[in-house]
Amino acid sequence: SSHFTHQKVLVIGGSRGIGAAIVRRFSKEGADVAFTYAGSKDAADALAASTGATAIRSDAAVRDEVIGVVKAQGPLDVLVVNAGVAVIDDSLAIDPDAVDRMIDINVRAPYHAAVEAARQMPDGGRIIVIGSVNGDRMPFAGGAAYALTKSALQGMARGLARDFGGRGITVNVVQPGPIDTDMNPHDGPMSGAMHDFMAIKRHGTADEVAGMVAYLAGPETRIVTGAMHTIDGGFGA
Ligand code: NDP
Repeated sequence: SSHFTHQKVLVIGGSRGIGAAIVRRFSKEGADVAFTYAGSKDAADALAASTGATAIRSDAAVRDEVIGVVKAQGPLDVLVVNAGVAVIDDSLAIDPDAVDRMIDINVRAPYHAAVEAARQMPDGGRIIVIGSVNGDRMPFAGGAAYALTKSALQGMARGLARDFGGRGITVNVVQPGPIDTDMNPHDGPMSGAMHDFMAIKRHGTADEVAGMVAYLAGPETRIVTGAMHTIDGGFGA
């Protein structure tokens, strides 16, 4: 049996893309998995049916929904906060409400979810948030607000690693580069420009990111905390 057998895993934002791959990976390894979604009910129901995971409708833009679902699902052995949106546009034209909603989902939700999870989490638990290589590098115009949200996760992880380290709870950021999902399809209009920045000129797969998440949740990484783990084909190199 796998390390994750009988472990309780919650994925915030798991209906599609990277989050769905994380749900599949932990389910396959025998964990007891629940995931949240906001809009994609059909995808969430199909994923639940194919994996045995539990789908929970909960909007990551609403702080008390995030806290409520983490509390109700706890105690968690592993929390993964994946839900994220990318509002990328000219800073002078961008809708300020869209920027603030992105901050709610990409920054406020991971912070409050992580803190709430730690309240009940057993010693040695794992908190993993999905950031972005854009937390380190923003090599094109229009990404200031998105980059701000992903850089914020770096400071959060460093600080929470200190807060929870005494209990062996680790806090890490996985930072993907271009990954083939609905958010960033491998054949989208920006693909060529993205591949120009990369050493390995292809989009990564959601399964590749899920592999790094599983590693950071597994038995070999108990001493890994407060750190950023970039998986980007050299986009930020
Ligand atoms: P997708 O847009 O393909 O999927 C996003 C997932 O997040 C969906 O399951 C969606 O659920 C969920 N989600 C979005 N908003 C909410 C919300 N308000 N409440 C609950 N769930 C929500 O994105 P990716 O899989 O590509 O991205 C996942 C993460 O990886 C994000 O944090 C993103 O910033 C990050 N990332 C992605 C990269 C890429 O190239 N793809 C690169 C670097 C980082 P639903 O549809 O049900 O609302």
